Amino acid sequence: MAPRGATGPASAMTRRGATDPAGAVAPGGATDAAGATDPAGAVGAPAIPVFLYHAVMDDPPGWIAEFTVTPREFAAHLDAVVDSGRTPVTISTIADHLAGRAPLPPRPVLLTFDDGFADLPGPTAEALAGRGLPATAYLTTGAIAPGGRSLLPPAPMMTLDRAAELERSGMEVGSHTVTHAQLDTLSGKDLAYELRSSKAVLEDALGHEIRHLAYPHGYNSPRVRAMSARAGYETATAVRHALSSDRDERYRIARLIVRRSHTVADVESWLAGAGARVAPYRDGPKTIAWRWYRRARAVVRGPEFAG
Ligand SMILES: [Zn+2]
Repeated sequence: MAPRGATGPASAMTRRGATDPAGAVAPGGATDAAGATDPAGAVGAPAIPVFLYHAVMDDPPGWIAEFTVTPREFAAHLDAVVDSGRTPVTISTIADHLAGRAPLPPRPVLLTFDDGFADLPGPTAEALAGRGLPATAYLTTGAIAPGGRSLLPPAPMMTLDRAAELERSGMEVGSHTVTHAQLDTLSGKDLAYELRSSKAVLEDALGHEIRHLAYPHGYNSPRVRAMSARAGYETATAVRHALSSDRDERYRIARLIVRRSHTVADVESWLAGAGARVAPYRDGPKTIAWRWYRRARAVVRGPEFAG
């Protein structure tokens, strides 16, 4: 299938800033009201931090360790979220705003969890629910369904039959594809399978429509974004290592990966709307060059885990 390019859904958002300076916002005290802006980003848009967590455990497998936080650090992060006075929401609240159905609450924040590691329906859900924090879980169905298969290396994963528990504890469930493939390297047929089958499996398990998607590794393209819309998703989250905003792109919502090396101070800085640039913004030359290198390399070998 040909890319839809400029007619794709992601292009509906106004792009701002033709240049691409380094432009990270100076941390420390910038408030949303003050703009927390990036000269090449969403000028004046209130920053919305969308945190991306993976496993929360003390002894993760090596491949995911970089993207794992300990339960103790996680608790400190959640306390920082509570103390920030931000309004925790799930992805549907952002979708309602981007579709013009409902206004955003003041100073929203999103907590998202990708892949479906074993801690999610257990201690992680309890830590969230204990603080009254809603969250969004994007599940890789091939990694959690009976007899499923995914590209993720071995790790303790949750099981699909516990997805309903996530919802009961206050999480919204979205899709993270079937196999965790790099979607922008797939044929049209394989891409459709990843998008549609994961959606159907989650809908069967939960008994309602699944409206939201997270791209494995954050990787996407105009074609992937258009196909995601066609498969029935209303939003899709990427990675981008940036703050989102109230005018972010529906099919490329920016998230901040929380790494093992991040501190509570980093989390507090993001919660203050600082410490990262604000999406939407144009990809810089380095991002574009990396994308083409990675797509070429994907033909030869699989991806390195990047979310
Ligand atoms: Zn993932």
